[in-house]
This record gives sequence, C-alpha cells and structure tokens, in this order.
Amino acid sequence: MVREITNAVLAARNSFGVEAFARRIVEFDDAGSLRSYLAEGNPLAQQSKTAVIGGGNNILFTKDFDGTLLHPVSDSFSVAEEDDVSATIRAGAGMDWDRFVENCIACGLWGAENLSAIPGTVGAAPVQNIGAYGAEAKDIIDRVEILDLYTLKETTLSGKHCDFSYRNSIFKGVLRDRAVITSVWFRLSKIPQPNISYGALAAKVGELGGASLENIRQAVIDIRRDKLPDPSVLGNAGSFFKNPLVAKETAEELKKRYPDMPVYPADGDSVKISAGWLIEQAGWKGKSRGKAGVYHRQALILVNHGGATGRDITELAQEVTSEVERLFGIRIETEVNIW
Ligand code: FAD
Ligand code: NAP
Repeated sequence: MVREITNAVLAARNSFGVEAFARRIVEFDDAGSLRSYLAEGNPLAQQSKTAVIGGGNNILFTKDFDGTLLHPVSDSFSVAEEDDVSATIRAGAGMDWDRFVENCIACGLWGAENLSAIPGTVGAAPVQNIGAYGAEAKDIIDRVEILDLYTLKETTLSGKHCDFSYRNSIFKGVLRDRAVITSVWFRLSKIPQPNISYGALAAKVGELGGASLENIRQAVIDIRRDKLPDPSVLGNAGSFFKNPLVAKETAEELKKRYPDMPVYPADGDSVKISAGWLIEQAGWKGKSRGKAGVYHRQALILVNHGGATGRDITELAQEVTSEVERLFGIRIETEVNIW
C-alpha cells in the first residue's frame, strides 16, 4: 500500500506544532510497496529532496519541505525467534514506540521497559539510538532492515554495523537521507534484568511494590509525566541539545570553578556533562524570547508557547548556545533535526 498526499500540512506531524507544508508525503506499509513505487520512476520521489518522517518528535521545521517525505505506517509486531532465555521481535517501522514497549511487557520480555513513553515510531529508534534512564535502544536492537534509496535494494544491518553511540548511529552519518528503516528486530530477555539504578527510579519502583516489568514501566511513565512537557499541550521535541562529551581534564578544570557541576561517565576517555545544568547556570531556565522558551522544569527542552516559528526556536537555541559557550567554553550541539 502506498498513499500520496500533496501539499501536506505538517503542523500536526511535528511535536513542536510549527506551521509548515511538504510538497508531498508518501505513506507506505512495507519495503516492497515503497520499492515498487520508487522503481516506477515516480518523478517527485526520485528527483526532489527525499527524507523520512516518523512521528515528527525530533524534527524542527524552519521552512516548508520542498520535496517528498516518506512515512512508514506498518505497525506489525511478531515473535520471530525464541529460545528458553530470549525472544526476537520483528516490529514494523511505523509502529508507535510506546506500544511496542507495552507489547514487549505484555509478552513478559525484559529490555525495553526503561524506554517507556518516548514519543515516536519504532523506525526512528535506531536513528538517534534513543535512550533514557540508563538504557539505550542499541542494548536491544539485533538488526535493522533498510531500503537503500540510491540502489532500491533491501538489506539488513546487524546492530554492530549500525555504529551506535550516544544519541548517534550510522543513520545520522553516511546513511542519512539514504536508508529508509522498514523494520527493526529486537532481542529481549525472558530472564528478569531490572535496571533501576538511574536517578529516582529505584525509589519510585519501590513505592509501586518492587521491580516487576509493569512497575518499572509505570515508574518511568510517572517520573516523565511529572517532569516533561506533553507535546499535545506545549509544543516541544524533548531535549533540544545533547549532553556534551568532554575530555576528563576539561571537566576537572571546570569542577574547580563549579564544584557542584554534575559529571557522568561516558565511552572512552570522555565524560558527560549535563547540558541542562549548563543552561540553567547560564540563567536560561524558564526564560522566553517571544513565543519560544526554555522549559521551566528542564532547561534542555525548548518549547513553543503558541505560534512560534521554527526560526524563532532556532534563534533562541543560538542565543542559549552562545551564552553557554561564553561562560563555560563548551559548545553544546543540537539533538533535534533542524530542517
Ligand atoms: P521523527 O522525529 O519523525 O524523525 C527523527 C529522525 O529520524 C529524522 O532524521 C528522520 O528522518 C529519521 N527517521 C524517522 N523514521 C525513520 C525511518 N523509518 N527510517 C530512516 N530514518 C527515519 N529521545 C530519546 O532518545 N530519549 C527520550 O527520553 C526522549 N524523550 C522525548 C520526550 C518528548 C516529550 C519528546 C517530544 C521527544 C523525546 N525524545 C526522546 C525524542 C524523540 O522521541 C525520539 O527522537 C524519537 O525516536 C523520534 O521518533 P519519531 O518517529 O517522531 O521520529
Ligand atoms: P535527569 O535525570 O534530570 O538528568 C539530567 C542529565 O544528567 C540527563 O540528561 C542524564 O543524561 C544525566 N544523568 C543523570 N543521571 C545519570 C546517571 N546515573 N548516569 C548517567 N547520566 C545521568 O534527566 P531528565 O531530563 O529527567 O531525563 C531523564 C531521562 O530521560 C534521561 O535519560 C534523558 O536522557 C531521557 N530524556 C531524553 C529526552 C530526549 O529528548 N533525548 C527527553 C526527555 C528525557 P542522559 O540524558 O544521557 O541519560
């Protein structure tokens, strides 16, 4: 199945809720139907700019999209392989991520529960290697099925060939705008493996009665609901900035000036600094510039107070970035995809 929508309105297709149009959206249910559609030489899809949009929870439109947006809609979920200790699930790229997590929990499978309530689709999860509460998508992704837009070949990449790292993957690198993720395979555990050491999770899980799959999911949902803005009420795309990874020596120097600065371990020789803390110290938490603002409960999140354009939000982001760099000598980078 392929469905084309021309002059598509994007306001309801991006969580910032900014107004924009796309020349065309092509909804497709599987790799085969998309490949046939593209192989027929559809002029718009092949000659104009082409990108993929899932739920639009990590995209900021700063102008109309003068091209074709491909949108997966398949929400299949099946147990593809299974043994005594684990099961492999194949899920369609269009499936709502949180429904996927809910289904895993209903099957008694461990590994996705800390990633409850992250808005978006299964197909987008590998792109920035979504992460929360001490878990990352890469921990459970076994392989990723893609359609290569250059060759129209369908291939499968094993997790280790996806170059996953902190909020990053090959899909933000050499395969950006080239690979359409059509299905993702996840390996989950039948053996309980609670991972509740992050922040207030253990305490919340304890209040709910112990570390069951359902309680961990509920604890994550409750904590998130208290702290994060709901995009249907206040436009946002989650963390606008990535936490910077800096050399240990840089962090030690900063710690002399700011002993309270939180520093967390990261891969290799670097350490992770909280971008939210840097922004808050710079005095931006809760501040607004016109219709765009820095969220009052979490300074990493930029919000649309109503009627902000993508430009308004990027201008605010630039001001915040410059001020953090001036004060701390650290240039924070955006996590959100700016189009
Ligand atoms: P989109 O925003 O549509 O797309 C994001 C990027 O992925 C784009 O570059 C797009 O081209 C690409 N893409 C999407 N689908 C495909 C596909 N099938 N094939 C190839 N490329 C594709 N993120 C976290 O990591 N952790 C969090 O805890 C978290 N919390 C959030 C909380 C809120 C309130 C919000 C609004 C966002 C949050 N995010 C978080 C960010 C967001 O939820 C994730 O990035 C999510 O994966 C986006 O999914 P999406 O389907 O909306 O992707
Ligand atoms: P938080 O718990 O207040 O922590 C602030 C920052 O410090 C986080 O960004 C987190 O990094 C880091 N941190 C805290 N405890 C840590 C630990 N034990 N080990 C390593 N790093 C630690 O953050 P929050 O805003 O409430 O978010 C909670 C979780 O949800 C975080 O994992 C966050 O990434 C995730 N989240 C992500 C988005 C998004 O859009 N990407 C939006 C909302 C929430 P990490 O971010 O690396 O974990």
